[in-house]
Amino acid sequence: MSLAHAAEAPSRSHLEPFRTRRTFAIISHPDAGKTTLTERLLSAAGAIQQAGAVRGKAGQRSTRSDWMEMEQQRGISISSSVMTFEFDGLTMNLLDTPGHSDFSEDTYRTLTAVDAAIMVIDAAKGIESQTLKLFEVCRLRDIPIITFINKVDREGLAPLDLIDEIQGKLALDLTPVLWPIGQGVDFGGYIDLLEKRVVTPQGKTLAEFEAIDDLLDVESLVDNPVFMTALETLELARAMLPAFDLKVFHEGHMSPVLFGSALKGIGVAELLRTLGDWGPEPRPQPALPAPIAPDEKKVSGFVFKVQANMDANHRDRIAFVRLCSGTFTRGMRLKNVRSGKDMAVANPMFFFGNNRELAEEAVAGDIVGIPNHGTLSVGDTLTEGATINVTGIPNFAPEIIRRVRLTDAMKTKQMSKALSDLAEEGVTQVFRRMVGADWIVGVVGQLQLEVLASRVAKEYGVPITFEPMGFEVARWVESDDPDELKRFIAAQKTNMAEDRANAPVFLAQNAWWADRAKQDWPKIRFLTTKERH
Ligand code: GDP
Repeated sequence: MSLAHAAEAPSRSHLEPFRTRRTFAIISHPDAGKTTLTERLLSAAGAIQQAGAVRGKAGQRSTRSDWMEMEQQRGISISSSVMTFEFDGLTMNLLDTPGHSDFSEDTYRTLTAVDAAIMVIDAAKGIESQTLKLFEVCRLRDIPIITFINKVDREGLAPLDLIDEIQGKLALDLTPVLWPIGQGVDFGGYIDLLEKRVVTPQGKTLAEFEAIDDLLDVESLVDNPVFMTALETLELARAMLPAFDLKVFHEGHMSPVLFGSALKGIGVAELLRTLGDWGPEPRPQPALPAPIAPDEKKVSGFVFKVQANMDANHRDRIAFVRLCSGTFTRGMRLKNVRSGKDMAVANPMFFFGNNRELAEEAVAGDIVGIPNHGTLSVGDTLTEGATINVTGIPNFAPEIIRRVRLTDAMKTKQMSKALSDLAEEGVTQVFRRMVGADWIVGVVGQLQLEVLASRVAKEYGVPITFEPMGFEVARWVESDDPDELKRFIAAQKTNMAEDRANAPVFLAQNAWWADRAKQDWPKIRFLTTKERH
């Protein structure tokens, strides 16, 4: 893999540190090659010794508790983690997002913490359902996207058809950066439009050019029918597609596209380079009373994820904080705007692959893990004292609602601790019914229930099961008229529960009953998401 350009790249040492951060996620449908690409990106940047070290293979890394085993058995990625690596004078922060659709809520929040995304598409499959969903989340925030069309070493759809499909389905302008020469058994390298060269799959430069037409003078190439077909289709693509425009890319409306193979390491260095050279610096963070500019002097950041028990031996809980501005130094006191409480951040951490390191200093774009005992929740804003609230990090109304049954009645206390601990991660929600003392959990997908039961059993030694309770819909309720809200709650007592922040939640048997309540109580708002402030 060629990293030759690195030597020629302009030095970045004169830049303010935050301008050298690239904070991004990879979005894809399961099996498109996200894990393989992650490994390759890390090894291309020299961050790991051998490809294959990202997803802890059996026996290699011991203590990631049972739900990780479950993840491996199912071949899905449940936990989001952060991987930081250096490349070309840049600090790359790659946030891993779970691929399974049941975990879209977690993914959604992770995407609030990135400045760019790499969209991986399987060349044989084109746009798949999960790609589309994740793309839509990125679009909500106009996140710039680089498209990596993977698996060109296998037979796939023709490049022009893929481009057509992506443009059509996503309403996104594409512009080619790496164009494949043949596919599958015919695959013979690529045309690199950025560095203006033709390269073999092994990374050897066959020809350089100023204008693409120059290549028609290179005998060894024009004699090759596969190359000539690639050149023709590239010309067609270029005629059909707009030229690259950095501003439009940064606004999220144009995506540079690279064809490559994660497995063979083809196009991976170029992908890093595209992200490095073009990828946006930390962007302003939507917040109230005003967006936070990354060059503001005072430190601010927000929690986009909390993970409990990352290390089963330590019972630790890590809040992942995306810094939005300022220069954070270890030991600094930060205020949690939600609780109004100050905390000294003594042991902030960076994550490199599977290793952690104390974070002495961090700037906008960086992700620091802050160990804590429940003081930090998803959505919390941390500042040097200012009252600022980062916006747009929602709770989603659960779609599956279950009563928790404890098989060992002596363990009620442990169960309530386990459920609240895990609810803090923001993947499951816990409610208490207003009448009676039932514990209720709400999740967005069935798999989360299984993960929850498995973790509560393994990590807290409490066996639980779930039973349906006749409710299918949960809505947070609020009203501008506090008396009306009281009347509603009194009238609906048996259908009411409270979330962890004691906010009232209305449970309905099904959508019809939820609708009916809406009609009967026009002054009440029924919300499917609740912003976490
Ligand atoms: P994820 O589910 O998106 O993380 O996908 P993986 O990275 O686990 O890849 C899914 C399958 O596709 C695995 O069997 C990979 O070996 C295979 N794969 C990934 N990239 C490529 C590629 O570039 N070419 C080929 N032929 N197979 C690939």
